[in-house]
Amino acid sequence: ADQEDKPHVAVLANSGLGHVVPLLEFSKRLVVGQGFRVTFLVVTTVDPNPAQDQLLNAPGLPHDLHVVSLPAIDTASVVPEDSRLLTSICLIVEASLKSLKATLIELSCLRALVVDLFCTQAFDVAAELSIPTYSFFTTSATMLAFSLYLPTLDREVTGELVDLPGPVQVPGCPPVQQEDLVDQLKDRRNEDYRWSLYHISRLPMAAGIFLNTWEGLEPGALRALREDSFYRQVPAPPVHAIGPLLHEDGNGEGLRSTDIECLAWLDGQPEESVVFVSLGSGGTLTREQQVEMAWGLEMSQQRFLWIVRKPTDASAADAFFNVGSNKEDDPTKYLPQGFLEKTRGVGMVVPSWAAQVAILSHPSIGAFLSHCGWNSSLESLTKGVPMIAWPLYAEQRMIAAMLAEDLGVAMRPSVEKGRKVVGREEIERLVRAVVSGEEGKRMRRRAREIRESSIESLGPGGSSHASLAAVCEDWKTTKCRGSEGELC
Ligand code: UDP
Repeated sequence: ADQEDKPHVAVLANSGLGHVVPLLEFSKRLVVGQGFRVTFLVVTTVDPNPAQDQLLNAPGLPHDLHVVSLPAIDTASVVPEDSRLLTSICLIVEASLKSLKATLIELSCLRALVVDLFCTQAFDVAAELSIPTYSFFTTSATMLAFSLYLPTLDREVTGELVDLPGPVQVPGCPPVQQEDLVDQLKDRRNEDYRWSLYHISRLPMAAGIFLNTWEGLEPGALRALREDSFYRQVPAPPVHAIGPLLHEDGNGEGLRSTDIECLAWLDGQPEESVVFVSLGSGGTLTREQQVEMAWGLEMSQQRFLWIVRKPTDASAADAFFNVGSNKEDDPTKYLPQGFLEKTRGVGMVVPSWAAQVAILSHPSIGAFLSHCGWNSSLESLTKGVPMIAWPLYAEQRMIAAMLAEDLGVAMRPSVEKGRKVVGREEIERLVRAVVSGEEGKRMRRRAREIRESSIESLGPGGSSHASLAAVCEDWKTTKCRGSEGELC
Protein backbone atom coordinates (compact mmCIF):
# COMPACT_ATOMS: atom_id res chain seq x y z
CA ALA A 1 0.00 0.00 0.00
CA ASP A 2 1.03 3.59 -0.53
CA GLN A 3 2.57 4.90 2.67
CA GLU A 4 -0.26 7.46 3.07
CA ASP A 5 -2.81 4.62 3.05
CA LYS A 6 -1.27 2.85 5.97
CA PRO A 7 -2.85 3.47 9.36
CA HIS A 8 -0.81 6.02 11.27
CA VAL A 9 0.26 5.83 14.94
CA ALA A 10 2.47 8.23 16.91
CA VAL A 11 4.82 7.12 19.66
CA LEU A 12 6.22 9.63 22.15
CA ALA A 13 9.50 8.85 23.88
CA ASN A 14 11.26 10.62 26.66
CA SER A 15 14.99 10.90 26.04
CA GLY A 16 17.23 8.39 27.84
CA LEU A 17 18.36 5.09 26.40
CA GLY A 18 16.25 2.97 28.73
CA HIS A 19 13.15 4.62 27.24
CA VAL A 20 14.16 5.20 23.63
CA VAL A 21 15.38 1.61 23.13
CA PRO A 22 12.09 -0.22 23.91
CA LEU A 23 9.84 2.44 22.37
CA LEU A 24 11.81 2.39 19.15
CA GLU A 25 11.66 -1.40 19.02
CA PHE A 26 7.92 -1.19 19.66
CA SER A 27 7.59 1.24 16.74
CA LYS A 28 9.59 -1.05 14.47
CA ARG A 29 7.28 -3.90 15.32
CA LEU A 30 4.22 -1.82 14.44
CA VAL A 31 5.75 -0.95 11.08
CA VAL A 32 7.32 -4.24 10.10
CA GLY A 33 4.95 -6.78 11.64
CA GLN A 34 1.64 -4.91 11.65
CA GLY A 35 1.63 -2.64 8.59
CA PHE A 36 1.47 0.75 10.35
CA ARG A 37 3.15 4.03 9.57
CA VAL A 38 4.73 5.36 12.78
CA THR A 39 5.87 8.85 13.70
CA PHE A 40 8.37 8.52 16.53
CA LEU A 41 8.36 11.77 18.53
CA VAL A 42 11.31 12.15 20.85
CA VAL A 43 12.15 14.63 23.57
CA THR A 44 15.61 16.08 22.95
CA THR A 45 18.01 18.52 24.55
CA VAL A 46 20.46 20.93 22.93
CA ASP A 47 23.29 18.71 24.09
CA PRO A 48 22.03 15.32 22.91
CA ASN A 49 23.39 12.07 24.13
CA PRO A 50 25.62 10.56 21.40
CA ALA A 51 24.51 6.97 22.01
CA GLN A 52 20.88 8.01 21.56
CA ASP A 53 21.66 10.00 18.47
CA GLN A 54 23.31 6.98 16.92
CA LEU A 55 20.28 4.83 17.66
CA LEU A 56 17.79 7.31 16.18
CA ASN A 57 19.85 7.86 13.06
CA ALA A 58 20.66 4.21 12.43
CA PRO A 59 20.68 3.48 8.70
CA GLY A 60 18.56 0.35 9.10
CA LEU A 61 15.35 1.99 10.42
CA PRO A 62 12.33 0.94 8.33
CA HIS A 63 11.03 3.36 5.73
CA ASP A 64 7.63 3.88 7.39
CA LEU A 65 9.19 4.81 10.74
CA HIS A 66 9.69 8.53 10.80
CA VAL A 67 11.75 9.99 13.67
CA VAL A 68 10.79 13.56 14.66
CA SER A 69 12.70 15.36 17.39
CA LEU A 70 10.62 17.78 19.44
CA PRO A 71 12.28 21.23 19.73
CA ALA A 72 15.54 20.80 21.64
CA ILE A 73 15.42 21.97 25.25
CA ASP A 74 18.27 23.83 26.87
CA THR A 75 18.64 21.78 30.05
CA ALA A 76 20.38 24.55 31.97
CA SER A 77 17.45 26.90 31.45
CA VAL A 78 14.73 24.55 32.74
CA VAL A 79 16.49 22.40 35.35
CA PRO A 80 17.65 24.11 38.54
CA GLU A 81 21.08 23.06 39.72
CA ASP A 82 21.10 20.21 42.27
CA SER A 83 17.88 18.70 40.87
CA ARG A 84 17.82 14.95 41.14
CA LEU A 85 17.65 12.71 38.10
CA LEU A 86 13.88 12.14 37.83
CA THR A 87 13.09 15.81 38.45
CA SER A 88 15.54 16.82 35.74
CA ILE A 89 13.98 14.36 33.28
CA CYS A 90 10.45 15.51 34.09
CA LEU A 91 11.26 19.21 33.78
CA ILE A 92 12.85 18.64 30.38
CA VAL A 93 9.80 16.65 29.26
CA GLU A 94 7.40 19.31 30.52
CA ALA A 95 9.20 22.03 28.59
CA SER A 96 9.37 19.85 25.50
CA LEU A 97 5.69 18.90 25.46
CA LYS A 98 4.63 22.54 25.12
CA SER A 99 4.96 21.99 21.39
CA LEU A 100 3.13 18.66 21.38
CA LYS A 101 -0.31 19.92 20.47
CA ALA A 102 0.88 21.72 17.35
CA THR A 103 2.90 18.67 16.33
CA LEU A 104 -0.04 16.30 16.77
CA ILE A 105 -2.36 18.58 14.80
CA GLU A 106 0.11 18.53 11.94
CA LEU A 107 0.32 14.73 11.98
CA SER A 108 -3.45 14.42 11.65
CA CYS A 109 -5.54 11.27 11.50
CA LEU A 110 -3.73 9.32 14.18
CA ARG A 111 -5.22 5.98 15.17
CA ALA A 112 -3.44 6.14 18.52
CA LEU A 113 -0.74 7.88 20.50
CA VAL A 114 1.51 5.74 22.70
CA VAL A 115 3.37 7.69 25.38
CA ASP A 116 6.29 7.04 27.61
CA LEU A 117 5.81 6.64 31.34
CA PHE A 118 7.14 10.13 32.13
CA CYS A 119 5.17 11.94 29.40
CA THR A 120 1.67 11.74 30.88
CA GLN A 121 0.95 15.44 30.17
CA ALA A 122 0.29 14.12 26.68
CA PHE A 123 -2.97 12.55 27.90
CA ASP A 124 -4.59 16.00 28.21
CA VAL A 125 -3.33 17.24 24.86
CA ALA A 126 -4.44 14.06 23.07
CA ALA A 127 -7.85 14.14 24.80
CA GLU A 128 -8.47 17.62 23.37
CA LEU A 129 -7.75 16.19 19.93
CA SER A 130 -9.76 12.98 20.56
CA ILE A 131 -6.76 10.72 19.97
CA PRO A 132 -6.88 7.48 21.97
CA THR A 133 -3.78 7.46 24.17
CA TYR A 134 -1.91 4.50 25.58
CA SER A 135 0.89 4.34 28.09
CA PHE A 136 4.11 2.44 27.49
CA PHE A 137 5.40 1.43 30.90
CA THR A 138 9.14 0.92 30.47
CA THR A 139 9.75 -1.36 33.43
CA SER A 140 8.31 -4.56 34.92
CA ALA A 141 4.70 -5.61 35.53
CA THR A 142 5.60 -5.89 39.21
CA MET A 143 6.62 -2.23 39.16
CA LEU A 144 3.37 -1.32 37.42
CA ALA A 145 1.40 -3.06 40.17
CA PHE A 146 3.48 -1.27 42.78
CA SER A 147 2.99 2.06 40.97
CA LEU A 148 -0.78 1.73 40.72
CA TYR A 149 -0.79 1.11 44.47
CA LEU A 150 1.39 4.12 45.24
CA PRO A 151 -1.43 6.71 45.44
CA THR A 152 -3.05 4.46 48.09
CA LEU A 153 0.21 4.21 50.03
CA ASP A 154 0.57 7.98 49.71
CA ARG A 155 -2.87 8.47 51.29
CA GLU A 156 -2.61 5.84 53.98
CA VAL A 157 0.96 6.08 55.22
CA THR A 158 1.73 9.12 57.33
CA GLY A 159 5.52 9.02 57.65
CA GLU A 160 8.13 7.84 55.17
CA LEU A 161 7.60 4.48 53.42
CA VAL A 162 11.10 3.50 54.47
CA ASP A 163 10.09 3.85 58.14
CA LEU A 164 7.20 1.37 57.93
CA PRO A 165 7.64 -1.41 60.49
CA GLY A 166 7.72 -4.25 57.94
CA PRO A 167 8.05 -4.80 54.20
CA VAL A 168 5.63 -2.85 52.01
CA GLN A 169 2.70 -5.10 51.03
CA VAL A 170 1.26 -4.50 47.59
CA PRO A 171 -1.47 -6.63 45.97
CA GLY A 172 0.09 -9.00 43.43
CA CYS A 173 3.71 -8.21 44.36
CA PRO A 174 6.09 -10.05 46.61
CA PRO A 175 6.59 -7.97 49.81
CA VAL A 176 9.01 -5.11 49.12
CA GLN A 177 11.82 -4.69 51.65
CA GLN A 178 12.40 -1.06 52.62
CA GLU A 179 15.96 -1.07 51.34
CA ASP A 180 14.70 -2.21 47.92
CA LEU A 181 12.13 0.58 47.56
CA VAL A 182 12.32 2.78 44.48
CA ASP A 183 14.84 5.52 45.23
CA GLN A 184 12.59 8.43 44.43
CA LEU A 185 9.99 7.16 46.89
CA LYS A 186 12.31 7.12 49.87
CA ASP A 187 12.00 10.82 50.64
CA ARG A 188 8.52 12.24 50.33
CA ARG A 189 9.67 15.82 50.65
CA ASN A 190 11.85 15.56 47.56
CA GLU A 191 10.64 16.76 44.14
CA ASP A 192 11.42 13.31 42.71
CA TYR A 193 8.67 11.82 44.87
CA ARG A 194 6.18 14.45 43.71
CA TRP A 195 6.97 13.81 40.05
CA SER A 196 6.69 10.04 40.45
CA LEU A 197 3.33 10.39 42.11
CA TYR A 198 2.14 12.87 39.48
CA HIS A 199 2.85 10.60 36.51
CA ILE A 200 1.78 7.42 38.24
CA SER A 201 -1.53 8.92 39.39
CA ARG A 202 -2.33 9.71 35.78
CA LEU A 203 -1.79 6.15 34.46
CA PRO A 204 -5.49 5.24 34.78
CA MET A 205 -6.19 7.89 32.09
CA ALA A 206 -4.60 5.58 29.50
CA ALA A 207 -6.75 3.57 27.09
CA GLY A 208 -4.34 0.69 27.73
CA ILE A 209 -0.89 0.05 29.13
CA PHE A 210 1.83 -1.70 27.14
CA LEU A 211 4.39 -3.61 29.14
CA ASN A 212 7.80 -4.78 28.03
CA THR A 213 7.39 -8.18 29.67
CA TRP A 214 5.60 -11.42 28.87
CA GLU A 215 3.17 -13.82 30.50
CA GLY A 216 5.81 -16.46 31.16
CA LEU A 217 8.12 -14.03 32.97
CA GLU A 218 5.74 -12.31 35.37
CA PRO A 219 2.59 -14.43 35.51
CA GLY A 220 1.70 -13.44 39.09
CA ALA A 221 1.88 -9.67 38.64
CA LEU A 222 0.08 -9.79 35.29
CA ARG A 223 -2.71 -11.91 36.72
CA ALA A 224 -3.08 -9.57 39.69
CA LEU A 225 -3.22 -6.50 37.43
CA ARG A 226 -6.13 -8.07 35.57
CA GLU A 227 -7.97 -9.92 38.30
CA ASP A 228 -7.15 -8.58 41.75
CA SER A 229 -10.04 -6.59 43.20
CA PHE A 230 -7.73 -3.68 44.04
CA TYR A 231 -6.67 -3.10 40.42
CA ARG A 232 -10.21 -3.65 39.17
CA GLN A 233 -11.36 -0.88 41.45
CA VAL A 234 -8.69 1.65 40.41
CA PRO A 235 -9.65 0.74 37.62
CA ALA A 236 -6.39 -0.24 35.95
CA PRO A 237 -6.55 0.15 32.16
CA PRO A 238 -6.22 -3.06 30.12
CA VAL A 239 -2.65 -4.32 30.33
CA HIS A 240 -0.89 -5.62 27.20
CA ALA A 241 2.27 -7.64 27.80
CA ILE A 242 4.04 -7.51 24.45
CA GLY A 243 7.70 -8.07 25.32
CA PRO A 244 10.47 -8.68 25.29
CA LEU A 245 11.21 -5.70 23.02
CA LEU A 246 14.94 -5.68 22.62
CA HIS A 247 17.42 -3.72 20.69
CA GLU A 248 19.69 -5.91 18.58
CA ASP A 249 22.98 -4.28 17.63
CA GLY A 250 22.03 -5.07 14.03
CA ASN A 251 24.39 -7.41 12.20
CA GLY A 252 27.48 -5.32 12.65
CA GLU A 253 25.72 -2.15 11.53
CA GLY A 254 26.32 0.78 13.84
CA LEU A 255 29.15 -0.88 15.74
CA ARG A 256 31.99 1.46 16.63
CA SER A 257 35.63 0.52 16.47
CA THR A 258 35.70 -0.10 20.26
CA ASP A 259 32.78 -2.54 19.89
CA ILE A 260 34.59 -4.42 17.16
CA GLU A 261 37.69 -4.63 19.37
CA CYS A 262 35.59 -5.98 22.27
CA LEU A 263 34.01 -8.64 20.08
CA ALA A 264 37.38 -9.64 18.63
CA TRP A 265 38.79 -9.94 22.14
CA LEU A 266 35.81 -12.08 23.18
CA ASP A 267 36.42 -14.31 20.13
CA GLY A 268 39.74 -15.26 21.70
CA GLN A 269 38.26 -16.27 25.10
CA PRO A 270 36.84 -19.67 26.09
CA GLU A 271 33.10 -20.21 26.05
CA GLU A 272 31.11 -18.78 29.00
CA SER A 273 34.27 -17.60 30.73
CA VAL A 274 33.98 -13.79 30.81
CA VAL A 275 32.13 -11.61 33.30
CA PHE A 276 30.73 -8.52 31.60
CA VAL A 277 30.51 -5.47 33.87
CA SER A 278 28.27 -2.61 32.75
CA LEU A 279 26.11 -0.18 34.68
CA GLY A 280 23.59 0.97 32.10
CA SER A 281 23.02 4.34 30.59
CA GLY A 282 24.14 6.45 33.50
CA GLY A 283 25.54 4.33 36.31
CA THR A 284 28.71 5.30 38.11
CA LEU A 285 30.51 3.98 41.20
CA THR A 286 31.92 5.93 44.12
CA ARG A 287 35.68 6.25 44.17
CA GLU A 288 35.99 3.77 47.03
CA GLN A 289 33.64 1.28 45.35
CA GLN A 290 35.50 1.51 42.06
CA VAL A 291 38.76 0.54 43.79
CA GLU A 292 37.06 -2.48 45.39
CA MET A 293 35.49 -3.46 42.06
CA ALA A 294 38.86 -3.34 40.31
CA TRP A 295 40.69 -5.46 42.87
CA GLY A 296 37.73 -7.82 43.31
CA LEU A 297 37.79 -8.56 39.59
CA GLU A 298 41.55 -9.02 39.69
CA MET A 299 41.42 -11.34 42.69
CA SER A 300 38.71 -13.51 41.11
CA GLN A 301 41.22 -14.49 38.42
CA GLN A 302 38.32 -14.69 36.00
CA ARG A 303 38.26 -13.01 32.62
CA PHE A 304 36.32 -9.73 32.50
CA LEU A 305 35.12 -7.05 30.13
CA TRP A 306 34.42 -3.85 32.06
CA ILE A 307 32.75 -0.69 30.76
CA VAL A 308 34.35 1.82 33.12
CA ARG A 309 33.35 5.37 33.91
CA LYS A 310 34.98 8.05 35.95
CA PRO A 311 33.99 7.36 39.57
CA THR A 312 32.15 10.03 41.51
CA ASP A 313 30.81 10.43 45.01
CA ALA A 314 28.12 12.84 43.77
CA SER A 315 25.39 10.58 42.32
CA ALA A 316 25.12 6.98 41.16
CA ALA A 317 23.50 8.25 37.94
CA ASP A 318 26.20 10.77 37.19
CA ALA A 319 26.78 9.75 33.58
CA PHE A 320 23.06 9.81 32.65
CA PHE A 321 23.07 12.93 30.49
CA ASN A 322 26.34 12.31 28.68
CA VAL A 323 26.72 8.59 28.13
CA GLY A 324 28.30 7.42 24.98
CA SER A 325 30.62 10.38 24.74
CA ASN A 326 34.07 8.95 25.30
CA LYS A 327 35.32 12.51 25.59
CA GLU A 328 38.19 13.01 27.99
CA ASP A 329 37.63 9.54 29.36
CA ASP A 330 41.02 8.08 30.11
CA PRO A 331 40.69 5.15 32.52
CA THR A 332 44.40 5.21 33.36
CA LYS A 333 43.65 8.45 35.21
CA TYR A 334 41.09 6.94 37.57
CA LEU A 335 41.61 3.18 37.82
CA PRO A 336 43.83 2.06 40.73
CA GLN A 337 47.51 2.13 39.99
CA GLY A 338 48.86 -1.17 38.73
CA PHE A 339 45.41 -2.61 37.95
CA LEU A 340 45.66 -2.43 34.16
CA GLU A 341 49.17 -3.93 34.15
CA LYS A 342 48.20 -6.74 36.51
CA THR A 343 45.11 -7.74 34.54
CA ARG A 344 46.54 -7.40 31.04
CA GLY A 345 45.32 -10.30 28.90
CA VAL A 346 42.77 -11.43 31.50
CA GLY A 347 40.58 -8.36 31.36
CA MET A 348 39.55 -5.73 28.90
CA VAL A 349 38.52 -2.24 29.95
CA VAL A 350 36.43 0.05 27.74
CA PRO A 351 35.66 3.62 28.72
CA SER A 352 32.05 4.82 28.96
CA TRP A 353 30.02 2.81 26.47
CA ALA A 354 29.91 -0.29 24.26
CA ALA A 355 27.33 -2.23 22.26
CA GLN A 356 25.89 -4.18 25.16
CA VAL A 357 23.53 -6.50 23.30
CA ALA A 358 26.22 -7.59 20.85
CA ILE A 359 28.50 -8.33 23.80
CA LEU A 360 25.86 -10.23 25.78
CA SER A 361 25.13 -12.31 22.68
CA HIS A 362 28.73 -13.49 22.46
CA PRO A 363 29.26 -17.15 23.49
CA SER A 364 32.28 -16.21 25.64
CA ILE A 365 30.12 -14.27 28.10
CA GLY A 366 29.58 -16.27 31.29
CA ALA A 367 28.02 -13.68 33.61
CA PHE A 368 26.72 -10.11 33.63
CA LEU A 369 27.36 -7.76 36.52
CA SER A 370 24.57 -5.28 35.85
CA HIS A 371 22.86 -2.30 37.45
CA CYS A 372 19.55 -4.11 36.77
CA GLY A 373 17.91 -1.54 34.54
CA TRP A 374 14.88 -3.28 33.06
CA ASN A 375 16.28 -3.34 29.53
CA SER A 376 19.64 -4.71 30.65
CA SER A 377 17.89 -7.36 32.74
CA LEU A 378 15.76 -8.47 29.79
CA GLU A 379 18.80 -8.47 27.52
CA SER A 380 20.65 -10.75 29.91
CA LEU A 381 17.72 -13.11 30.37
CA THR A 382 16.98 -13.39 26.67
CA LYS A 383 20.63 -14.23 26.02
CA GLY A 384 20.55 -16.84 28.79
CA VAL A 385 23.25 -15.07 30.85
CA PRO A 386 23.20 -15.33 34.70
CA MET A 387 23.71 -12.09 36.62
CA ILE A 388 25.36 -10.39 39.53
CA ALA A 389 22.81 -7.78 40.56
CA TRP A 390 24.37 -4.41 41.25
CA PRO A 391 21.46 -1.98 41.53
CA LEU A 392 22.30 1.71 41.76
CA TYR A 393 19.22 3.95 41.54
CA ALA A 394 15.55 4.31 40.52
CA GLU A 395 13.65 0.97 40.67
CA GLN A 396 16.79 -1.13 40.16
CA ARG A 397 16.75 -2.62 43.66
CA MET A 398 13.22 -3.94 43.16
CA ILE A 399 14.30 -5.52 39.88
CA ALA A 400 17.39 -7.00 41.56
CA ALA A 401 15.16 -8.60 44.20
CA MET A 402 12.97 -10.10 41.49
CA LEU A 403 15.96 -11.46 39.53
CA ALA A 404 17.54 -13.00 42.61
CA GLU A 405 14.60 -14.12 44.69
CA ASP A 406 11.75 -14.84 42.28
CA LEU A 407 13.53 -15.83 39.09
CA GLY A 408 16.70 -17.35 40.55
CA VAL A 409 18.97 -15.93 37.86
CA ALA A 410 21.05 -13.48 39.89
CA MET A 411 23.16 -13.24 43.04
CA ARG A 412 23.18 -10.08 45.14
CA PRO A 413 26.28 -8.85 46.98
CA SER A 414 26.23 -8.33 50.70
CA VAL A 415 27.86 -5.42 52.43
CA GLU A 416 29.87 -6.03 55.58
CA LYS A 417 28.54 -4.36 58.71
CA GLY A 418 29.90 -0.87 59.16
CA ARG A 419 30.98 -0.51 55.51
CA LYS A 420 29.38 1.54 52.75
CA VAL A 421 30.80 -0.44 49.85
CA VAL A 422 30.87 -4.04 48.68
CA GLY A 423 34.33 -5.32 49.53
CA ARG A 424 36.74 -6.85 47.04
CA GLU A 425 36.51 -10.32 48.67
CA GLU A 426 32.74 -10.34 48.17
CA ILE A 427 33.17 -9.33 44.53
CA GLU A 428 35.78 -12.06 44.07
CA ARG A 429 33.41 -14.63 45.62
CA LEU A 430 30.44 -13.61 43.46
CA VAL A 431 32.34 -13.51 40.20
CA ARG A 432 33.76 -16.99 40.81
CA ALA A 433 30.41 -18.38 41.91
CA VAL A 434 28.55 -17.11 38.86
CA VAL A 435 31.19 -17.71 36.18
CA SER A 436 32.51 -21.05 37.31
CA GLY A 437 30.57 -22.32 40.35
CA GLU A 438 27.62 -24.71 40.70
CA GLU A 439 25.34 -21.80 41.62
CA GLY A 440 26.26 -20.15 38.32
CA LYS A 441 25.40 -23.31 36.38
CA ARG A 442 22.01 -23.52 38.06
CA MET A 443 21.28 -19.85 37.32
CA ARG A 444 22.39 -20.27 33.70
CA ARG A 445 19.98 -23.19 33.25
CA ARG A 446 17.19 -21.03 34.66
CA ALA A 447 18.12 -18.07 32.44
CA ARG A 448 18.03 -20.39 29.42
CA GLU A 449 14.55 -21.58 30.31
CA ILE A 450 13.46 -17.95 30.50
CA ARG A 451 15.09 -17.31 27.16
CA GLU A 452 13.06 -20.17 25.65
CA SER A 453 9.85 -18.80 27.10
CA SER A 454 10.63 -15.35 25.65
CA ILE A 455 11.11 -16.84 22.20
CA GLU A 456 7.83 -18.70 22.50
CA SER A 457 5.92 -15.59 23.58
CA LEU A 458 7.03 -13.70 20.48
CA GLY A 459 6.47 -16.52 18.00
CA PRO A 460 3.24 -17.22 16.12
CA GLY A 461 0.62 -18.20 18.68
CA GLY A 462 2.74 -16.74 21.51
CA SER A 463 1.13 -14.50 24.12
CA SER A 464 3.05 -11.29 23.35
CA HIS A 465 2.52 -11.72 19.64
CA ALA A 466 -1.20 -12.21 20.16
CA SER A 467 -1.52 -9.26 22.58
CA LEU A 468 0.05 -6.83 20.16
CA ALA A 469 -1.89 -8.17 17.19
CA ALA A 470 -5.18 -7.73 19.09
CA VAL A 471 -4.55 -4.04 19.88
CA CYS A 472 -3.36 -3.40 16.33
CA GLU A 473 -6.53 -4.97 14.96
CA ASP A 474 -8.52 -2.57 17.11
CA TRP A 475 -6.56 0.42 15.85
CA LYS A 476 -6.98 -0.62 12.25
CA THR A 477 -10.75 -0.79 12.56
CA THR A 478 -11.28 2.46 14.54
CA LYS A 479 -11.94 5.65 12.63
CA CYS A 480 -9.87 8.71 13.48
CA ARG A 481 -10.13 12.46 13.03
CA GLY A 482 -8.18 14.47 10.48
CA SER A 483 -6.85 18.00 10.99
CA GLU A 484 -10.25 19.50 10.06
CA GLY A 485 -11.98 17.22 12.54
CA GLU A 486 -13.33 15.02 9.73
CA LEU A 487 -13.55 11.25 10.21
CA CYS A 488 -10.99 9.32 8.18
N1 UDP B 1 23.61 0.16 26.88
C1 UDP B 1 24.56 -0.08 25.89
N2 UDP B 1 25.87 0.12 26.19
C2 UDP B 1 26.32 0.53 27.39
C3 UDP B 1 25.35 0.77 28.40
C4 UDP B 1 24.00 0.57 28.11
O1 UDP B 1 24.22 -0.47 24.77
O2 UDP B 1 27.53 0.68 27.57
C5 UDP B 1 22.17 -0.03 26.56
C6 UDP B 1 21.67 -1.32 27.16
O3 UDP B 1 21.90 -2.39 26.27
C7 UDP B 1 20.19 -1.01 27.38
C8 UDP B 1 20.15 0.49 27.63
O4 UDP B 1 21.39 1.01 27.16
O5 UDP B 1 19.44 -1.30 26.22
C9 UDP B 1 20.02 0.84 29.10
O6 UDP B 1 18.74 0.57 29.55
P1 UDP B 1 18.43 0.01 31.01
O7 UDP B 1 16.95 -0.02 31.16
O8 UDP B 1 19.15 -1.25 31.26
O9 UDP B 1 19.09 1.04 32.00
P2 UDP B 1 18.94 2.58 32.30
O10 UDP B 1 18.70 3.29 31.04
O11 UDP B 1 17.81 2.70 33.24
O12 UDP B 1 20.26 2.88 32.92
